Amino acid sequence: MTDRLRPLISAGRIKKRVAELARHISDDHRGAPLTLVIVLKGATVFAADLMRRIDTPFIIDFVRASSYGKAARSSGAVALADDEKLDIAGHHVVVVEDIVDTGLTITALIAALEKLGPESVDVCTLLHKHVDGAKPVAIRYKGFDIPDEFVVGYGMDYAEKYRNLPGVFRLKLAD
Ligand code: 5GP
Repeated sequence: MTDRLRPLISAGRIKKRVAELARHISDDHRGAPLTLVIVLKGATVFAADLMRRIDTPFIIDFVRASSYGKAARSSGAVALADDEKLDIAGHHVVVVEDIVDTGLTITALIAALEKLGPESVDVCTLLHKHVDGAKPVAIRYKGFDIPDEFVVGYGMDYAEKYRNLPGVFRLKLAD
């Protein structure tokens, strides 16, 4: 049996929302030092589109969060990539995520970034999944709320597959 994909958010809707988020981020940071911290790997497609619509200067950096691998639950473990020296002191940081699910990953990441002396740390996520018992997370820039289902596409994978899909799809795994 093959995996079953059902469309959830079209490429067209994503494009429109990304432009709105970029305008919001731009308007909030004019004249201020801005760093986008992009969470590998799932947020790369979103970030590539988002940054091309931001019209105020910024720099980018990357962090790596633990992967689901082939599991379907987040461990919440976060590692700042390599011996990472993120130079964000005094910067307004916007963390770019693909999806906030239990909130464990983003909460751990914000705590790690806060130690580096930024002026502020805000979250920009394409998707916010609503799961029972999730950690409440303040999300300043949010693309879409989605139900508690596993999604792929637009950079998000299942075991490294499906990142290339232009929209977001619900994935039902083959038995
Ligand atoms: P959290 O720590 O909030 O539970 O999980 C956040 C991370 O788990 C996301 O950055 C993403 O990498 C992964 N994740 C959570 N839900 C999904 C999903 O439905 N699909 C995919 N592909 N990844 C997910």
